[in-house]
Amino acid sequence: MSVGKKPLPPAPDGLPVYRPQEVPPGLLHKTALGEKGLKPAAGQKPLGYLRYYRDKLAPLYQESVAVPKRVLSAEHRAKLQQAAARRFACPGCGSDMRDHPAPPWGVPGRCADCAHRTVEQRIAADRAEAVTWAQEVIAGARGAYLLGDTETAWLHGPLCELALTDIRGRRVFSRLINPQADIHPDAQAIHGISNDMVRDAPTFAELFAELSALLAGTRVLFWNADYDVPVLRREAVRHFGLPWSTTGHAAQSAGPTAAHRYEQARQWMATWDSECLMEWHAQFWGAFDPQEWNYRWQKLGGDHRALGDCRTMAQRLAEMSEADSGSSRRGAATKHRRP
Ligand SMILES: [Zn+2]
Repeated sequence: MSVGKKPLPPAPDGLPVYRPQEVPPGLLHKTALGEKGLKPAAGQKPLGYLRYYRDKLAPLYQESVAVPKRVLSAEHRAKLQQAAARRFACPGCGSDMRDHPAPPWGVPGRCADCAHRTVEQRIAADRAEAVTWAQEVIAGARGAYLLGDTETAWLHGPLCELALTDIRGRRVFSRLINPQADIHPDAQAIHGISNDMVRDAPTFAELFAELSALLAGTRVLFWNADYDVPVLRREAVRHFGLPWSTTGHAAQSAGPTAAHRYEQARQWMATWDSECLMEWHAQFWGAFDPQEWNYRWQKLGGDHRALGDCRTMAQRLAEMSEADSGSSRRGAATKHRRP
């Protein structure tokens, strides 16, 4: 465990701090001294610290300088030992947490082994939940789902392409859309949609009735719903006669007409629902990030055209539903196993 590990930084008082395996011979913490019938002598100063359970420090005393404790009855002594054992016992397995290195995953109040097990169990349960969800979505047990994807004229910009497919990736809607603004070269470099391609395409307003009918009562899965849904919300706001990217807050301060138009857009958005496939897939994939205490998002790996991305999403969803919910995780669960 300690091989190749950098020494810990010293304590605020300048004394060295050791991991359990690094404590030099002859240095003991108070409890260990007590177990040998010893206690620090009057005025005896610690020579360093033991770091136990994450960042707690126990002062270490030189055993050869320590003095015998007041002799206790065997009964009293056993009681004290039990109390110490209870205080440092892992609630998971009962082992003495001072014997363990700091848990790598920050599960409070657990020894490193139990912290690891706790996270493993959570990852397995989360994966099983995601597999069940995908199976229910595909079986239609969770209502009418569509897959959706947007391409935009720039990051957070107006729509230049929208596709909707059914849950198997079959085309429901796929159109280039005139964004009524120039497509930024950076965006074009990603999706390949040029100004020429959308010049004669219909506007969102011209597609509005058709889209409203398709979307009504459905739940649309986007790979990153936090991106795509606001794109559509801004289009709806623009459709109902507000300037591009007007927010509800701005609309309310712009007077009753603007507030009314924003309310129309809000009501349209409420005629359909959305969910994020990327979040479910991350939970399924199981690349657990102990810093964030969450799962890392994975790239979709589509072709960055709306219909192609919908079809790739259908593949991801199918893979999730066909997976064994119990085992064979592909994530970072093993990558983060403590050394
Ligand atoms: Zn434990």
